Amino acid sequence: MLKEDFFENEEFSDEEKANAAFQIVTGMRDVLNVALKSNYVPTYQKAIAYIKDISPAIYDTIIDYLPEKVESDLVKRFKESADAEIEFKESENYDSILSSTAISMIQQEIDKCDATIQKNSKSSKDVKANRGYKKQLLSALKSFDVRKMNEHELLSHDFYIANRKEFKLIDEEVDRKDYRLPDGKILRLYLAHPNKIEQVLGVDVIYECYDLRLNMVRFAHLQYKTWKTLSLSFDEREKRQLERMYTNTCACNHCEVPSAFASASPYRFPYCAAFLRPTNKIMPKGSKMMTMGDHIPLCKINELRASTEQILKHSIQEISLTQQGFEEAFNKFHVGSRWMPIGDLEEYYRKRNLTDLSGNVRIIAQEIAFNEVEF
Ligand SMILES: [Zn+2]
Repeated sequence: MLKEDFFENEEFSDEEKANAAFQIVTGMRDVLNVALKSNYVPTYQKAIAYIKDISPAIYDTIIDYLPEKVESDLVKRFKESADAEIEFKESENYDSILSSTAISMIQQEIDKCDATIQKNSKSSKDVKANRGYKKQLLSALKSFDVRKMNEHELLSHDFYIANRKEFKLIDEEVDRKDYRLPDGKILRLYLAHPNKIEQVLGVDVIYECYDLRLNMVRFAHLQYKTWKTLSLSFDEREKRQLERMYTNTCACNHCEVPSAFASASPYRFPYCAAFLRPTNKIMPKGSKMMTMGDHIPLCKINELRASTEQILKHSIQEISLTQQGFEEAFNKFHVGSRWMPIGDLEEYYRKRNLTDLSGNVRIIAQEIAFNEVEF
């Protein structure tokens, strides 16, 4: 299991674990951004809520390593006091009772602070300490928001599509959920990881767009890696992983210009079906999660790596797309693989055994356009 093998293994530092957890959240946020097809970039909290919805096990594994979850001593204190008040600790709703009890205790403290501030202000007495304490209480209150986010209003969820021959389950073991997109398409999201995982080397996102009206599909594969300050370097295992992704995408015709479309779109970016997606190192505990959002075509990475071992941040500016740039270009068919018959993609997966990507957590998104009459 992911948790026992990696997140509970003391050989790996908290920083490595936090980086892996952050990559999973960033991957999910990027997927939601592409699926929603708007300039709106979902918050990390929204992405975390979807991870929880699709795979409670992966959520439980990563949540302790995300800065948003790091609890202040004040939050811990209120939780302890709330726990003391709860009579039936075995209750199924223990977590939500604990949160609501702690929230009302914090609110009472805020009210007390407000009363003191009001009284003292009238008589021109000092209120600095109370103002400071109130600020801490308000941020303690805010920290309960993440856990209240079970209802995620971006997509209608629990939408069920019957198993159709086009969509055989990728793996019976993986977690999966179907959502209805605002444009009427279906988004099927999978969260998976290899059975045995020694070290989380990165996160793979596979985004596939199926059009059942034309029986065609196109896709983009993204591999997430952490920037080391101003550069990206690869150890032996990472190099093998990168080469494997190159062999499996760029080197098998997916990045070739289809002759029928050679001059179809003058705005088309080069045909590359795979991208390296560097994320920033996670900041120290307690800080916000942030990422720059570079997407670099793997064909280009390969060219760069032929001349240098290290890829510098400034050297990729010309060839990289931001998250928003990628979302727009992918949704307008300017980047990613060419369209191909669905059968060809199935054949490609069958031959290549792509589900066996050692060391990576996988987020698979299948966007499916059906014939309207089928619903
Ligand atoms: Zn390529």
